[in-house]
Amino acid sequence: MRQKGQDENMNYIDMHCDTLSEALVRGQKTAKSLEGTMVDVERLKRSGAAAQFFAMFLPQKESDRRRYQMEAGIPQLNMLLEKMYEIYQNTLSECSDILAPAYRAEDLEKNRKEGKLSAFLTIENGAVAEGKLENIERFYQKGVRLITLTWNDENCFGYPHSSHREEMRRGLKPFGKEAVSYMEEQGILVDVSHLSDGGFYDVADIMKKPFVASHSNCRAITPATRNLTDDMIRVLAEHGGVAGINFEPTFLNGNPKDTLSRVERMCDHVEHFIRIGGVECVGIGTDFDGIGGQFEIADCTQMEKLFAALRKRGISEETLEKIAYRNVERVIREGM
Ligand SMILES: [Zn+2]
Repeated sequence: MRQKGQDENMNYIDMHCDTLSEALVRGQKTAKSLEGTMVDVERLKRSGAAAQFFAMFLPQKESDRRRYQMEAGIPQLNMLLEKMYEIYQNTLSECSDILAPAYRAEDLEKNRKEGKLSAFLTIENGAVAEGKLENIERFYQKGVRLITLTWNDENCFGYPHSSHREEMRRGLKPFGKEAVSYMEEQGILVDVSHLSDGGFYDVADIMKKPFVASHSNCRAITPATRNLTDDMIRVLAEHGGVAGINFEPTFLNGNPKDTLSRVERMCDHVEHFIRIGGVECVGIGTDFDGIGGQFEIADCTQMEKLFAALRKRGISEETLEKIAYRNVERVIREGM
């Protein structure tokens, strides 16, 4: 959505990256310029991004936290959150000529007019709410505008996706239900990526406003439990919600041994979303810096490959704009 002529790249909004966590692991104070990552602010500037959602990723299990070199035995998720928040704040101040925070749709518009990228702050794993609405209020005050309710572990909201049918059916906990209503009222987007199917349907039952699956693909194409079934896609679309195409090979390919993230496969998922839920229900949630394998789109400066491939499949400019930008913009407008 930048001024014409300023660059040729398609504008897009990416609903999920784990770059703050990568910056922390690398001992960096900001995400301005990061070697070897898939996103940093300097590259975002060249990428065509209109907005990037930055997740504060909070792994619960000791084994998932090793890379942060956190002291053993200390379940200091809040400490981790504070460290990533500091990197986020440092990034905003160091890159104030490129990037500005956004809290609602008006900010996105204002930043665009000033020629700046918008940054949205998110939490991946609501465990830090510790079962209290006042903690969610505290996150809101910090600028958090989306919470991915769970990661891959049980928390105060509910249960994660699972390959066990019974576990997958488990719904939100009482606090989870209360919190989802509170978030809807407050203007924090509810993100069902990573959540159990039962949790998904509870969110859908509770909410009137749109919600998102910020970084999930189609289960009918790739039977990963992180992906959405056709019925879930329909329900998400009925709510005016959006799912973001995830670039992780495991969620794109049918074969778990196939670790190449292919653009054509992304297009297959986009087309399936459109077929099942319509053109309004699909967006982008790359999961950059949170995924592993080999990548045809190796970093944010190469997003144009996806848009070019979608054009080649006969997707109109109008639809492309919806996928890249407008659908998520609509959810921000209605949900924040
Ligand atoms: Zn994730």
